[in-house]
Amino acid sequence: MSETTKWYQLPPERVLEALASRRSGLTEQEVQERLSRYGTNELKGRKKTSPVVVFLRQFLSPLVYVLVAASSVNVVIGKYTDAVVILITLLIMAAIGFIQETRAEKAMDALLRLAAPKARVRRSGQVISVDAREVVPGDIILLEAGDRVPADALIVESSNLKVNESLLTGESMPVDKHTDTLSGELAVADRKNMVFMGTTVTYGRAAGIVVSTGMSSEIGRIAGALREVKPEPTPLQRSISNLGRYIIIITGAACALLVAVGFLRGLDWLEVFLIAVAAAVSAIPEGLPATMTVVLAVGMRFMAQRHAIIRQLVAVETSGSVTVICSDKTGTLTLNQMTVKRLWTGGRWIDVTGEGYLPQGELRVDGRTVKASDDEAVALVLRIGALCNDALLTAGDRECCGIMGDPTEGALVVAAAKAGFEKERLELHYPRLDEIPFQSERRYMATLHPRDGGKQAYVKGAPERLLEMSGSILYDGASVPLTAERRQAVLEAVDIMAREAMRVIALAYVDLPAEVEELHEDSLKGKLVLAGLAGMADPPREEAKTAIRLCKQAGIRVVMITGDNRITAESVARQLDLPPGRAITGQELQAMGDDELATEAARISVFARIEPLHKLRIVKAFKRLGEVVAMTGDGVNDAPALKAADIGIAMGLTGTDVAKEASNMVLADDNFASVVAGVEEGRAIFNRLRNVLFFLLSTGLGSLLALIFAVLTSGKAPLTPIQIIWVNLVTGTIIAIPLGLEPKIGDELSKPPRHPKVNLVFPGLLIRTVFVAFLMSMPVFLLFNWADDVLSLTEARTIAFCTMVVVQWFIVFSARSDEYSIFKLGLFRNRWLILALLGALVLQLIVIYVPFLRPAFHTAPIGWFEWGLVVVSSFGVFVVEALVRAVFPGLFLLGKWRPLRD
Ligand code: ADP
Ligand code: MG
Repeated sequence: MSETTKWYQLPPERVLEALASRRSGLTEQEVQERLSRYGTNELKGRKKTSPVVVFLRQFLSPLVYVLVAASSVNVVIGKYTDAVVILITLLIMAAIGFIQETRAEKAMDALLRLAAPKARVRRSGQVISVDAREVVPGDIILLEAGDRVPADALIVESSNLKVNESLLTGESMPVDKHTDTLSGELAVADRKNMVFMGTTVTYGRAAGIVVSTGMSSEIGRIAGALREVKPEPTPLQRSISNLGRYIIIITGAACALLVAVGFLRGLDWLEVFLIAVAAAVSAIPEGLPATMTVVLAVGMRFMAQRHAIIRQLVAVETSGSVTVICSDKTGTLTLNQMTVKRLWTGGRWIDVTGEGYLPQGELRVDGRTVKASDDEAVALVLRIGALCNDALLTAGDRECCGIMGDPTEGALVVAAAKAGFEKERLELHYPRLDEIPFQSERRYMATLHPRDGGKQAYVKGAPERLLEMSGSILYDGASVPLTAERRQAVLEAVDIMAREAMRVIALAYVDLPAEVEELHEDSLKGKLVLAGLAGMADPPREEAKTAIRLCKQAGIRVVMITGDNRITAESVARQLDLPPGRAITGQELQAMGDDELATEAARISVFARIEPLHKLRIVKAFKRLGEVVAMTGDGVNDAPALKAADIGIAMGLTGTDVAKEASNMVLADDNFASVVAGVEEGRAIFNRLRNVLFFLLSTGLGSLLALIFAVLTSGKAPLTPIQIIWVNLVTGTIIAIPLGLEPKIGDELSKPPRHPKVNLVFPGLLIRTVFVAFLMSMPVFLLFNWADDVLSLTEARTIAFCTMVVVQWFIVFSARSDEYSIFKLGLFRNRWLILALLGALVLQLIVIYVPFLRPAFHTAPIGWFEWGLVVVSSFGVFVVEALVRAVFPGLFLLGKWRPLRD
């Protein structure tokens, strides 16, 4: 076998032989061997940046240049210790930055990979789901609509397979595939008996033999020089870098002011220069980007723990501002554990007992047990249900029974099994010759089987749809014309079941001539004989009910979307306590213009009989109302709506690869409650970002102001450059990170959503920043001025140095919330913060009390009295801030909450 083998020219058996494989698939051992021989099935992007480069990159900031310049100046004037200390500090800073960056990014990468694509393969005769990266040449893969093709493969079985190959060929229309062996030299687009890695299955199903994986696949060869696409910066990242620009301008101006003041006061030019450099270092929150990254990474982990997996960074921030959640009903708000409860045929009702997928239960008429084998009509209904069906009963151990496939279909298999009809045995008598697969747009499925020398088609689907296609109906064992009266009887039966929140499936058949080999809608239209109805219950999820209540509290609208009929949908909505609203159907939606739909949308809470493409219009309508929309989806055709939504949420268990790829978030458990958990975590993340921002900005500005005031009033620098750098880089960063790990307050879902126009920074936050900055500068320069008169300059500076550090420790406590007092929050709830504070305290004591470090940091030991002054005045800052918050509760919240809807 070589890279250039023309697989499409070979019959399947030859390919199997060439790849030493077989139809039952490879064994686990063979797979392991091949994995080490061929490598994992991945496209290797650009080489990862080496850690050395990441480390060196830490030095690429204007700030570092200034620091290096400053230490060179120190060398020139002979202050070697100062130069060395500045350089060491620089290294520490780079190390912290390096560790944060690599760790946070690793964590994010790992989290983003959680939603990595899977592949279904047949190995040792068993169909299993594996990570797509573990597919090897020779594997037998199974494909169905919605799958992303995991590797290049030759098709060996196929039923109506259509594949979108636009990724490879640019052709956006799906292409039909088949299993015929081809000849001649063919371009990729013409190899109709092959499927290629990265393309998506839009219709039908198939099995194939993998012929090449990873970089030897067609896409891998094209992508040989593949560049990893660098993700666009998210709005948050953009606003942070904008903010950074403002800060640099303001700091530049302030430093110029400082230099001017220094000159006027007659300070040495060199000292002025060094102080200005130090001031710039203290005012610019270098820790900001790294801390933000950490907050986001940690927040993503919290979300993942609660089953909301982020696929794109942008979803972390938008999730907190969601105002409308459009959720699928089936499987998200309900358990998707369908159980057939009732059958209806020819005017008779049959109850089915038993719960779940355990095939134990019986059929009852008026409370009396009946046998399906004695009742032609019931037997027929159950047989259609079991044969026009892709689900399988998985008979694990005796206790537990499950199904594989769609729960709606599973329910029908189980119901048939309860009556003694085993699907597998039925299939021996009635093999499937062709099929029209179920699609939400079509709302029915049909299969073709041989019957008494002729053929018979079995159809199941939504009752209205099948009524449209039926000409007759089964009554008393015979097919009679479907009169208006009989049609009415069917609709009434549907209604009765729908009112009990049941999904209703109609079952029909038609006899066809023996020559028919393929099924087409035309051969069914108007000819079907309606055999009966099956009503199946799908219990609502208890957690969904709670989550809906939380949404009400959190000012988030919940809208239910379903393919079921209106009455079923409304009954389920009532069971879930969904807030009352209008219910409309897909048909009504289609009749509305965009304007009308947008105005109506404000009142609608249930969309019934919805096809995937309607979802796009629903998203757009809500967006026109200014809402921030989260939309769930699972199918191929949900992709456009998922992309258009502010947050597209795909189902992790039942979702197709196509839906997952179009989404920003994936639900590991398909549960509505996880959407709400994601929103809650998103809001908490935003709070943390704001708190960190406030802390870094106010302490940076505060240090700058303290320097300016002290130079202005005393003509001396209250701290030496090294001290300033120490305060900022070491103690500041150490406590900013744990501030970003603050546990949730618990009120995240009792507030309204953030207005999309209200940014990270809002007026109240700026007011608070400036106010606290002024406040914290006071004790620093006042204590310095006092100590400068009564103590030595070194002691005075040590006092200013300590005050600057201690006041930050107090501010970090008020930074934990802009609304609640620390008593409400719990003093010790943020354990990381307490630990970090202890660490910072130890470091601070070391640079003052370890003798050989004193000259390096220009410190002198200070006494209890001085420490008392430092602590009390710093505590004073904390108290004043808290008092202002208590007296003017709205001041620091100005502009934070803007009404969303009038
Ligand atoms: P939902 O999104 O709520 O699951 P679907 O679009 O899957 O809704 O289903 C719409 C309707 O199509 C259902 O109400 C049912 O009548 C019918 N239906 C659902 N699943 C199947 C199936 N596997 N075969 C035939 N008909 C189905
Ligand atoms: Mg469905």
